[in-house]
Amino acid sequence: MTVSILYREELREYDFGLGHPFRGDRYEIFPRVLKEQIAEDGKFHFVVADTCSEEDLRLICSQEYIDFTREYFRAANAGETFVRSMDFPKYHSLDNLPRGKPGKLEEAARMMIGQVKKAAELVAEGGEEIVICIGGNLHHAKPNYGEGFCIYNDNAFAAKHLLDEYGLERIMVLDTDAHQGNGTCEYFYTDPRVLFVDLHQDPTTLYPGVGFANDIGQGEGKGFTINVPMPVYAGIDSYRMALEQVVEPVTREFRPQVIIRNGGSDPHFADGLTNLGLPVAGFKMIGEKIRSLTHECGCSEIDIIGSGYNIQVLPSAWLALISGVAGFDVEVEEPISIPARFAEDSVADDTAKVVQRVRGYLKDYWTCFS
Ligand SMILES: [Zn+2]
Repeated sequence: MTVSILYREELREYDFGLGHPFRGDRYEIFPRVLKEQIAEDGKFHFVVADTCSEEDLRLICSQEYIDFTREYFRAANAGETFVRSMDFPKYHSLDNLPRGKPGKLEEAARMMIGQVKKAAELVAEGGEEIVICIGGNLHHAKPNYGEGFCIYNDNAFAAKHLLDEYGLERIMVLDTDAHQGNGTCEYFYTDPRVLFVDLHQDPTTLYPGVGFANDIGQGEGKGFTINVPMPVYAGIDSYRMALEQVVEPVTREFRPQVIIRNGGSDPHFADGLTNLGLPVAGFKMIGEKIRSLTHECGCSEIDIIGSGYNIQVLPSAWLALISGVAGFDVEVEEPISIPARFAEDSVADDTAKVVQRVRGYLKDYWTCFS
Protein backbone atom coordinates (compact mmCIF):
# COMPACT_ATOMS: atom_id res chain seq x y z
CA MET A 1 0.00 0.00 0.00
CA THR A 2 1.23 3.47 -0.91
CA VAL A 3 0.56 6.37 1.40
CA SER A 4 -0.37 9.76 -0.04
CA ILE A 5 1.28 12.73 1.60
CA LEU A 6 -0.20 16.10 0.78
CA TYR A 7 2.30 18.90 0.82
CA ARG A 8 3.30 21.97 -1.15
CA GLU A 9 6.33 24.21 -0.77
CA GLU A 10 4.32 27.43 -0.49
CA LEU A 11 3.12 26.32 2.97
CA ARG A 12 6.41 27.83 4.12
CA GLU A 13 4.54 31.15 3.89
CA TYR A 14 2.46 30.18 6.94
CA ASP A 15 4.86 32.18 9.05
CA PHE A 16 4.09 34.69 11.83
CA GLY A 17 7.53 36.30 11.62
CA LEU A 18 10.76 36.64 13.54
CA GLY A 19 10.40 35.96 17.26
CA HIS A 20 6.95 34.36 16.96
CA PRO A 21 6.71 30.69 18.06
CA PHE A 22 5.04 29.68 14.78
CA ARG A 23 7.51 29.94 11.92
CA GLY A 24 7.15 28.53 8.43
CA ASP A 25 10.58 26.87 8.26
CA ARG A 26 9.08 23.65 9.64
CA TYR A 27 7.50 23.14 6.21
CA GLU A 28 10.96 23.19 4.60
CA ILE A 29 12.83 21.22 7.23
CA PHE A 30 10.41 18.35 7.72
CA PRO A 31 9.83 17.27 4.09
CA ARG A 32 13.63 17.18 3.68
CA VAL A 33 14.02 14.93 6.73
CA LEU A 34 11.18 12.71 5.55
CA LYS A 35 12.79 12.22 2.12
CA GLU A 36 16.17 11.49 3.71
CA GLN A 37 14.75 8.87 6.05
CA ILE A 38 12.23 7.10 3.87
CA ALA A 39 12.48 6.41 0.16
CA GLU A 40 9.51 7.87 -1.68
CA ASP A 41 9.50 5.02 -4.18
CA GLY A 42 6.96 2.41 -3.22
CA LYS A 43 6.33 3.68 0.32
CA PHE A 44 4.67 7.01 -0.22
CA HIS A 45 4.19 9.70 -2.78
CA PHE A 46 3.68 13.43 -2.48
CA VAL A 47 0.46 14.90 -3.82
CA VAL A 48 0.05 18.61 -4.51
CA ALA A 49 -3.49 19.86 -3.90
CA ASP A 50 -5.10 22.97 -5.35
CA THR A 51 -5.86 25.84 -3.04
CA CYS A 52 -9.47 26.21 -1.88
CA SER A 53 -12.15 28.52 -3.26
CA GLU A 54 -14.09 31.22 -1.46
CA GLU A 55 -17.10 28.92 -1.58
CA ASP A 56 -15.07 26.26 0.22
CA LEU A 57 -14.23 28.74 2.97
CA ARG A 58 -17.92 29.49 3.42
CA LEU A 59 -18.41 25.91 4.56
CA ILE A 60 -16.53 26.81 7.77
CA CYS A 61 -16.50 30.63 8.01
CA SER A 62 -18.89 33.54 7.88
CA GLN A 63 -18.54 35.81 4.83
CA GLU A 64 -17.85 38.72 7.16
CA TYR A 65 -14.88 36.93 8.71
CA ILE A 66 -13.47 35.91 5.30
CA ASP A 67 -13.80 39.46 3.98
CA PHE A 68 -12.18 41.00 7.04
CA THR A 69 -9.33 38.50 7.11
CA ARG A 70 -8.44 38.98 3.45
CA GLU A 71 -8.69 42.74 3.70
CA TYR A 72 -6.56 42.77 6.84
CA PHE A 73 -3.76 40.80 5.20
CA ARG A 74 -3.90 42.92 2.05
CA ALA A 75 -3.79 46.15 4.05
CA ALA A 76 -1.04 44.92 6.38
CA ASN A 77 1.13 43.97 3.40
CA ALA A 78 0.49 47.41 1.91
CA GLY A 79 1.55 49.05 5.17
CA GLU A 80 -1.95 50.37 5.97
CA THR A 81 -1.87 49.83 9.72
CA PHE A 82 -5.27 51.37 10.53
CA VAL A 83 -7.10 48.08 9.91
CA ARG A 84 -5.18 46.43 12.68
CA SER A 85 -6.14 48.91 15.38
CA MET A 86 -9.78 49.37 14.33
CA ASP A 87 -11.32 45.95 13.81
CA PHE A 88 -8.72 43.29 14.42
CA PRO A 89 -9.82 42.25 17.97
CA LYS A 90 -13.35 41.64 16.76
CA TYR A 91 -12.20 38.89 14.39
CA HIS A 92 -8.83 37.66 15.64
CA SER A 93 -6.96 37.33 18.93
CA LEU A 94 -3.69 39.25 19.14
CA ASP A 95 -1.59 36.08 18.76
CA ASN A 96 -2.81 35.95 15.15
CA LEU A 97 -1.04 39.24 14.43
CA PRO A 98 2.04 38.42 12.38
CA ARG A 99 5.25 40.14 13.45
CA GLY A 100 6.21 42.24 10.48
CA LYS A 101 4.44 42.06 7.14
CA PRO A 102 2.36 38.88 6.85
CA GLY A 103 3.33 38.12 3.25
CA LYS A 104 1.32 35.20 1.89
CA LEU A 105 0.22 33.76 5.24
CA GLU A 106 -3.48 33.94 4.34
CA GLU A 107 -2.86 32.27 0.98
CA ALA A 108 -1.00 29.47 2.77
CA ALA A 109 -3.94 29.06 5.16
CA ARG A 110 -6.24 28.58 2.16
CA MET A 111 -3.84 26.00 0.73
CA MET A 112 -4.19 24.05 3.97
CA ILE A 113 -7.95 23.94 3.41
CA GLY A 114 -7.26 22.84 -0.17
CA GLN A 115 -5.15 19.99 1.19
CA VAL A 116 -7.83 18.59 3.50
CA LYS A 117 -10.38 18.94 0.70
CA LYS A 118 -8.16 16.77 -1.48
CA ALA A 119 -7.58 14.36 1.43
CA ALA A 120 -11.35 13.96 1.85
CA GLU A 121 -11.68 13.27 -1.86
CA LEU A 122 -8.91 10.65 -1.77
CA VAL A 123 -10.46 8.71 1.10
CA ALA A 124 -14.09 9.09 -0.05
CA GLU A 125 -13.70 8.59 -3.80
CA GLY A 126 -10.33 6.91 -4.16
CA GLY A 127 -10.83 4.55 -1.25
CA GLU A 128 -7.36 5.36 0.09
CA GLU A 129 -6.77 4.18 3.59
CA ILE A 130 -4.24 6.70 4.83
CA VAL A 131 -3.73 10.26 3.67
CA ILE A 132 -1.30 12.50 5.52
CA CYS A 133 -1.48 16.29 5.34
CA ILE A 134 1.74 18.08 6.20
CA GLY A 135 0.56 21.50 7.33
CA GLY A 136 -2.60 22.57 9.05
CA ASN A 137 -3.98 21.47 12.43
CA LEU A 138 -5.55 24.92 12.76
CA HIS A 139 -7.93 23.66 15.43
CA HIS A 140 -8.42 26.91 17.36
CA ALA A 141 -10.07 28.77 14.45
CA LYS A 142 -13.83 29.34 14.68
CA PRO A 143 -16.47 30.37 12.11
CA ASN A 144 -16.16 34.02 13.02
CA TYR A 145 -12.93 34.26 15.02
CA GLY A 146 -9.28 33.32 14.53
CA GLU A 147 -7.02 32.56 17.50
CA GLY A 148 -4.07 30.47 18.65
CA PHE A 149 -2.10 31.00 15.37
CA CYS A 150 -5.09 29.61 13.43
CA ILE A 151 -6.89 31.38 10.56
CA TYR A 152 -9.23 28.77 8.98
CA ASN A 153 -10.09 25.47 10.68
CA ASP A 154 -8.93 22.66 8.41
CA ASN A 155 -10.00 19.88 10.80
CA ALA A 156 -13.57 21.20 10.78
CA PHE A 157 -13.47 21.54 7.01
CA ALA A 158 -12.38 17.92 6.54
CA ALA A 159 -15.21 16.59 8.71
CA LYS A 160 -17.89 18.90 7.29
CA HIS A 161 -16.85 18.18 3.70
CA LEU A 162 -17.03 14.41 4.28
CA LEU A 163 -20.53 14.82 5.74
CA ASP A 164 -21.91 17.31 3.21
CA GLU A 165 -20.19 16.37 -0.05
CA TYR A 166 -19.85 12.61 0.37
CA GLY A 167 -22.79 11.85 2.63
CA LEU A 168 -20.75 10.13 5.32
CA GLU A 169 -22.50 9.66 8.65
CA ARG A 170 -19.87 8.91 11.28
CA ILE A 171 -16.62 10.88 11.45
CA MET A 172 -14.23 10.76 14.36
CA VAL A 173 -11.91 13.68 15.04
CA LEU A 174 -9.06 12.68 17.35
CA ASP A 175 -7.09 15.71 18.49
CA THR A 176 -3.76 14.77 20.10
CA ASP A 177 -2.28 18.27 20.04
CA ALA A 178 -1.14 19.51 23.47
CA HIS A 179 -3.73 22.30 23.31
CA GLN A 180 -7.43 21.59 23.37
CA GLY A 181 -9.05 22.06 19.93
CA ASN A 182 -11.61 24.62 21.06
CA GLY A 183 -12.47 25.70 17.52
CA THR A 184 -13.14 22.19 16.21
CA CYS A 185 -15.00 21.34 19.41
CA GLU A 186 -17.34 24.29 18.93
CA TYR A 187 -18.17 23.36 15.32
CA PHE A 188 -19.51 19.94 16.32
CA TYR A 189 -20.63 20.39 19.94
CA THR A 190 -24.27 19.56 19.13
CA ASP A 191 -23.63 17.18 16.21
CA PRO A 192 -23.77 13.40 16.89
CA ARG A 193 -22.34 12.61 13.44
CA VAL A 194 -18.92 13.80 14.61
CA LEU A 195 -17.30 12.14 17.60
CA PHE A 196 -14.72 14.64 18.86
CA VAL A 197 -12.08 13.17 21.19
CA ASP A 198 -9.36 15.43 22.52
CA LEU A 199 -6.31 14.51 24.62
CA HIS A 200 -4.71 17.74 25.79
CA GLN A 201 -2.80 19.31 28.66
CA ASP A 202 -4.92 20.17 31.74
CA PRO A 203 -6.71 23.39 30.71
CA THR A 204 -6.12 25.01 34.09
CA THR A 205 -2.44 25.14 33.09
CA LEU A 206 -2.51 25.96 29.35
CA TYR A 207 -4.23 27.94 26.59
CA PRO A 208 -7.10 27.82 25.55
CA GLY A 209 -8.25 27.02 29.12
CA VAL A 210 -11.25 24.91 28.09
CA GLY A 211 -11.86 21.19 27.54
CA PHE A 212 -12.65 19.77 30.99
CA ALA A 213 -13.77 16.18 31.51
CA ASN A 214 -17.39 17.22 32.07
CA ASP A 215 -17.61 19.05 28.73
CA ILE A 216 -19.29 16.26 26.78
CA GLY A 217 -21.39 18.04 24.14
CA GLN A 218 -24.91 19.40 24.09
CA GLY A 219 -28.36 18.54 22.78
CA GLU A 220 -28.20 15.70 20.25
CA GLY A 221 -24.42 15.92 20.44
CA LYS A 222 -24.31 15.09 24.15
CA GLY A 223 -21.84 12.26 24.69
CA PHE A 224 -20.12 12.92 21.34
CA THR A 225 -17.51 15.31 22.73
CA ILE A 226 -14.86 13.62 24.87
CA ASN A 227 -12.21 15.70 26.61
CA VAL A 228 -9.30 14.00 28.36
CA PRO A 229 -7.35 16.67 30.27
CA MET A 230 -3.87 15.15 30.71
CA PRO A 231 -1.91 16.08 33.86
CA VAL A 232 1.19 18.25 33.52
CA TYR A 233 4.22 16.02 32.68
CA ALA A 234 2.01 13.21 31.33
CA GLY A 235 4.29 10.79 29.49
CA ILE A 236 4.04 7.64 27.44
CA ASP A 237 2.29 5.52 30.11
CA SER A 238 -0.36 8.21 30.61
CA TYR A 239 -1.01 8.52 26.89
CA ARG A 240 -1.17 4.74 26.44
CA MET A 241 -3.70 4.57 29.28
CA ALA A 242 -5.91 7.31 27.79
CA LEU A 243 -5.77 5.64 24.39
CA GLU A 244 -6.48 2.12 25.69
CA GLN A 245 -9.18 3.02 28.20
CA VAL A 246 -10.97 5.86 26.42
CA VAL A 247 -10.07 6.19 22.73
CA GLU A 248 -9.93 2.52 21.71
CA PRO A 249 -13.19 1.33 23.28
CA VAL A 250 -15.22 4.33 22.12
CA THR A 251 -13.83 4.07 18.59
CA ARG A 252 -14.83 0.40 18.42
CA GLU A 253 -18.32 1.28 19.59
CA PHE A 254 -18.78 4.33 17.31
CA ARG A 255 -17.35 2.57 14.20
CA PRO A 256 -16.21 5.73 12.37
CA GLN A 257 -16.07 5.71 8.58
CA VAL A 258 -13.10 8.09 8.69
CA ILE A 259 -10.76 9.03 11.53
CA ILE A 260 -9.28 12.52 11.29
CA ARG A 261 -6.32 12.83 13.64
CA ASN A 262 -4.67 16.17 14.16
CA GLY A 263 -1.73 17.50 16.16
CA GLY A 264 2.02 17.78 15.92
CA SER A 265 4.97 17.64 18.30
CA ASP A 266 3.84 19.95 21.10
CA PRO A 267 3.13 17.19 23.70
CA HIS A 268 6.93 16.51 23.67
CA PHE A 269 8.74 17.06 26.98
CA ALA A 270 11.06 19.68 25.43
CA ASP A 271 8.36 21.72 23.68
CA GLY A 272 8.69 25.46 24.24
CA LEU A 273 5.02 26.28 24.91
CA THR A 274 3.67 23.29 26.86
CA ASN A 275 4.35 21.14 29.93
CA LEU A 276 3.68 17.56 28.91
CA GLY A 277 6.18 14.70 28.98
CA LEU A 278 6.01 12.60 25.80
CA PRO A 279 9.28 11.25 24.37
CA VAL A 280 9.59 10.67 20.62
CA ALA A 281 8.72 6.99 21.15
CA GLY A 282 5.35 8.17 22.48
CA PHE A 283 4.47 9.74 19.12
CA LYS A 284 5.20 6.48 17.35
CA MET A 285 3.01 4.65 19.87
CA ILE A 286 0.10 7.06 19.20
CA GLY A 287 0.50 6.59 15.45
CA GLU A 288 0.58 2.79 15.74
CA LYS A 289 -2.53 2.72 17.92
CA ILE A 290 -4.43 4.78 15.34
CA ARG A 291 -3.17 2.55 12.57
CA SER A 292 -4.49 -0.59 14.24
CA LEU A 293 -7.83 1.07 15.11
CA THR A 294 -8.19 2.07 11.45
CA HIS A 295 -7.60 -1.56 10.40
CA GLU A 296 -9.94 -2.90 13.03
CA CYS A 297 -12.81 -0.57 12.06
CA GLY A 298 -12.15 -0.94 8.34
CA CYS A 299 -12.08 2.85 8.02
CA SER A 300 -9.76 5.44 6.48
CA GLU A 301 -7.56 7.93 8.23
CA ILE A 302 -6.68 11.54 7.44
CA ASP A 303 -3.69 12.62 9.47
CA ILE A 304 -3.09 16.37 9.85
CA ILE A 305 0.26 17.34 11.27
CA GLY A 306 1.27 20.91 12.05
CA SER A 307 2.15 22.01 15.57
CA GLY A 308 5.39 22.02 17.55
CA TYR A 309 7.42 24.72 19.25
CA ASN A 310 10.88 23.18 19.51
CA ILE A 311 12.35 22.97 16.03
CA GLN A 312 15.07 20.55 17.21
CA VAL A 313 12.43 18.03 18.28
CA LEU A 314 9.76 18.63 15.65
CA PRO A 315 11.17 16.60 12.71
CA SER A 316 11.75 13.49 14.86
CA ALA A 317 8.35 13.66 16.54
CA TRP A 318 6.51 14.23 13.25
CA LEU A 319 8.46 11.40 11.61
CA ALA A 320 7.62 9.11 14.53
CA LEU A 321 3.91 9.94 14.25
CA ILE A 322 3.85 9.41 10.49
CA SER A 323 5.85 6.18 10.77
CA GLY A 324 3.29 4.92 13.25
CA VAL A 325 0.19 5.75 11.23
CA ALA A 326 1.69 4.72 7.88
CA GLY A 327 3.53 1.63 9.11
CA PHE A 328 6.97 2.84 7.94
CA ASP A 329 9.74 0.71 9.36
CA VAL A 330 12.11 3.41 10.57
CA GLU A 331 13.97 3.88 13.82
CA VAL A 332 13.37 7.41 15.07
CA GLU A 333 15.89 8.65 17.61
CA GLU A 334 15.26 11.00 20.51
CA PRO A 335 17.07 14.19 19.47
CA ILE A 336 17.52 15.43 23.06
CA SER A 337 18.68 13.22 25.94
CA ILE A 338 15.72 12.53 28.23
CA PRO A 339 16.03 14.45 31.54
CA ALA A 340 15.78 12.33 34.73
CA ARG A 341 12.34 13.71 35.62
CA PHE A 342 10.95 12.33 32.33
CA ALA A 343 12.78 8.99 32.43
CA GLU A 344 9.57 7.46 33.65
CA ASP A 345 6.00 8.73 33.67
CA SER A 346 5.65 10.26 37.16
CA VAL A 347 1.96 11.17 36.86
CA ALA A 348 0.42 7.89 35.67
CA ASP A 349 -1.60 7.59 38.91
CA ASP A 350 -3.12 11.04 38.32
CA THR A 351 -3.90 10.11 34.74
CA ALA A 352 -5.70 6.97 35.93
CA LYS A 353 -8.00 9.19 38.02
CA VAL A 354 -8.65 11.50 35.06
CA VAL A 355 -9.49 8.52 32.86
CA GLN A 356 -11.95 7.22 35.45
CA ARG A 357 -13.61 10.65 35.66
CA VAL A 358 -13.90 10.89 31.88
CA ARG A 359 -15.45 7.42 31.65
CA GLY A 360 -17.84 8.29 34.48
CA TYR A 361 -19.19 11.39 32.73
CA LEU A 362 -19.82 9.35 29.57
CA LYS A 363 -21.16 6.12 31.01
CA ASP A 364 -24.77 6.92 30.10
CA TYR A 365 -23.84 7.44 26.44
CA TRP A 366 -21.49 4.54 25.68
CA THR A 367 -21.87 0.92 26.81
CA CYS A 368 -18.06 0.55 26.80
CA PHE A 369 -17.89 3.01 29.70
CA SER A 370 -20.79 1.67 31.74
ZN1 LIG B 1 -0.84 22.96 20.09
